[in-house]
Amino acid sequence: MPRLHGSQKRVLVTGGAGFIGSHLCERLLAEGHDVLCVDNLYSSSKQNIDHLIGNPYFEHLRHDVTFPLYVEVDEIYNLACPASPVMYQTDPVQTTKTSVLGAINMLGLAKRMRCRILQASTSEVYGDPTVHPQKESYWGNVNPIGPRACYDEGKRCAETLFFDYHRQHGLEVKVARIFNTYGPRMHISDGRVVSNFVVQALRGEDLTIYGDGSQTRSFCYVDDLVSALIALMNSPADVTGPINLGNPAELRIGDLAKQVIEMTGSSSKIVQKPLPQDDPVQRRPDASKAKELLDWQASVPLDEGLKKTIAYFRETLEAGGRG
Ligand code: NAD
Ligand code: UDP
Repeated sequence: MPRLHGSQKRVLVTGGAGFIGSHLCERLLAEGHDVLCVDNLYSSSKQNIDHLIGNPYFEHLRHDVTFPLYVEVDEIYNLACPASPVMYQTDPVQTTKTSVLGAINMLGLAKRMRCRILQASTSEVYGDPTVHPQKESYWGNVNPIGPRACYDEGKRCAETLFFDYHRQHGLEVKVARIFNTYGPRMHISDGRVVSNFVVQALRGEDLTIYGDGSQTRSFCYVDDLVSALIALMNSPADVTGPINLGNPAELRIGDLAKQVIEMTGSSSKIVQKPLPQDDPVQRRPDASKAKELLDWQASVPLDEGLKKTIAYFRETLEAGGRG
């Protein structure tokens, strides 16, 4: 395939029909690139990319990244992998395969094309952290045989592969450690905390807090995260990461539940459910490296991001929801 005009690149986004991936595809198209979205729709729905179909610079290929892929591209964002604990624990063997075989296949493609490749890694590589906030230099505290291991260890192994391809084959790699991200197009039933609470509040159902709600997370709005991913991809070659991408504003899950009830004006109550095994107690990125190397920091405050997320789910529910 001939190169495209000017600065236009042929960009492959695996997991491009997912929550973050669909926003990334949209932004890359707006920047004038030609986008190939590769996604088997395991944890997402076509509705996320409906509005992009028909754009001559957008293409969706239904493909499982655990199988090799031969396409011509200039840049790869590797996002394919279910991210919600409920989704990734439904078929844990497939989750590990997606992270590990998916990374091998996409790195092989990047090696053949001699192109840059970015990995969507995760704060889960830190496991249940004993260091707070988490810096990139922290090696983590992961249970290798627990129910979250398929995701955590799969992502850790993918990072290993990225750095081995970098050292062994001179590949230009970028590893982003993404912290909890939320926003429109999260799957209505994917089980993550923000989507769960918002949907429960809008339906007038009880909000389910796992444990006593004192565990913390730091939530980044999806638009901020997409800007960070693109900044990382476009950074100088020696900026390989791993680099934390997230919003350092930390809050307790119990406080998130109260805020969602207040912002939706819901009459829902809060109920406690058992805390899942190995659920991290606290999580907050040390985001100083992203600021220093990418000149990026999260800018959307939680109430603003939640407002847009609530509006999205309200509209989705009014339209009959999606399975
Ligand atoms: P998501 O589940 O909405 O998107 C993942 C996409 O990957 C889905 O569209 C799914 O169908 C696709 N997929 C899964 N397995 C596949 C396979 N074998 N072949 C092809 N496609 C496959 O999740 P998300 O929140 O958009 O996460 C995107 C990426 O970012 C993931 O790699 C995730 O691990 C990472 N991440 C997300 C968060 C977050 O808070 N959202 C945090 C850390 C890391
Ligand atoms: N959680 C909760 N109620 C829910 C869903 C999640 O209390 O309905 C908690 C979960 O136990 C965890 C936090 O919210 O402590 C974030 O969960 P999520 O699944 O969104 O992501 P994680 O950071 O655990 O991967």
